Amino acid sequence: MENNSFIIEEISYLITANENHDILRDATIVVVDGTIVAINPTASELSQWSSLPRISGLERAITPGLVNAHTHLPMTFLRGWAEGVDLDGFLQKVWKAEAEVMNPANCELGGKLGAAESLLGGTTTALDMYFHPVETHRGAVAAGLRHVIGPIFFDAPALDGLEWEERIELAKRWPEALSEIGGAFTPLYYMPHSCYTDSFEHLSEVAQLAAQTGANIHLHVSETRQENKVVMEMHNVTPTEQCFNTGILDRPTTFGHAVHLSPDDVEMAVSKSAVIAHCPGSNLKLASGIANIPFYYDSDLHVALGTDGTSSSNDLNMWIVLRLAALLIAQMHGPHTVDLHKLFASATREGARAVGMQDLIGSIEVGKRADLISIDLTALHLTPIHDIMALLFYAVDKTDVRDVWVDGVQVVKDRTLTRVDAQQLRNEVNQRIELWRAAVSAPSH
Ligand SMILES: [Zn+2]
Repeated sequence: MENNSFIIEEISYLITANENHDILRDATIVVVDGTIVAINPTASELSQWSSLPRISGLERAITPGLVNAHTHLPMTFLRGWAEGVDLDGFLQKVWKAEAEVMNPANCELGGKLGAAESLLGGTTTALDMYFHPVETHRGAVAAGLRHVIGPIFFDAPALDGLEWEERIELAKRWPEALSEIGGAFTPLYYMPHSCYTDSFEHLSEVAQLAAQTGANIHLHVSETRQENKVVMEMHNVTPTEQCFNTGILDRPTTFGHAVHLSPDDVEMAVSKSAVIAHCPGSNLKLASGIANIPFYYDSDLHVALGTDGTSSSNDLNMWIVLRLAALLIAQMHGPHTVDLHKLFASATREGARAVGMQDLIGSIEVGKRADLISIDLTALHLTPIHDIMALLFYAVDKTDVRDVWVDGVQVVKDRTLTRVDAQQLRNEVNQRIELWRAAVSAPSH
């Protein structure tokens, strides 16, 4: 039985990410069986937990674990594979490589690598989407990540070779697959890739099945102007309208990217409580455009944050995403419009909403699961501290994350993974890549 009960005391900065954006100084939190049961208890209340291990929070910031609300973890295998291209060029290059290398075994290993990298950087939950979701999930769960994935849907057989009916069968069996693999709880998800790869009839079928099984939906929406143009030519609607018309939006839905939403799209998404996963790093690199986040916030659209896959964003660093999101707002709309608390909530509380878990994770509040990270504040580049939020956005690096807990279980201790041998994982990945290169005589670079 893993120890998932402990006390963190004398916390220099407890960033709760609650509705009031409370930041507590010299704080104490008590975690019992993976649940936060007390924040700043009195001495007499604390005495009932006197047998629990105590961890010092001195010169630490404790925050909720970050939620990466749009990614493709196994694509760690293709880090740096498609440089100097826009989304169209990217897809052509990457889809060819994926067909060669992303078999089930490599999806499992790539999922594990992506999960390990995520945890070391303070991301405790990821909303993933990839082929071979069973194997990908098994790999990510082995590292200790709260890993949200589900069956992926394309009209045509993609690199996994599945026919439509086989995808539907996998979706029906998905709850058993999740319980067989185990790991931290995640809701049921279905993942139709996009409105340009899935027909009206197929999207409607996924929506109907989701209504029956209680699944949520994750898909790409309006990543580029070109996507909007293609969907308009195919269906005479915007991607958001297509989601509305097919019933997708009747389920809790997260839109990956959503760079180019019209005011009507935003209104429609808000009316259905959809969440968008803003991916500024990937969008900038592929020149997909810049989402108007202040407009989305003002419209009460739920905004979460994501990295996208590492073949477009190259790493899974949510601190860079936070920084880029803030800097883009400053550049586009003026520094006075940057609300760091709101943006941090996008990486935590709204991220939890993006994975259908807003009642369970995403903030440090009594009753929530203990998905926590500890940031070491003793580095020279974090000295002195005038404004802790500005520090988190503009100075903290992922390597400042020292300890990470998921469901109260410590998965990173003193910057070291507790469930994965990092060196062995690295060797295995490099061996698989060498095998791929030898098989296809791919240029090494
Ligand atoms: Zn994506």
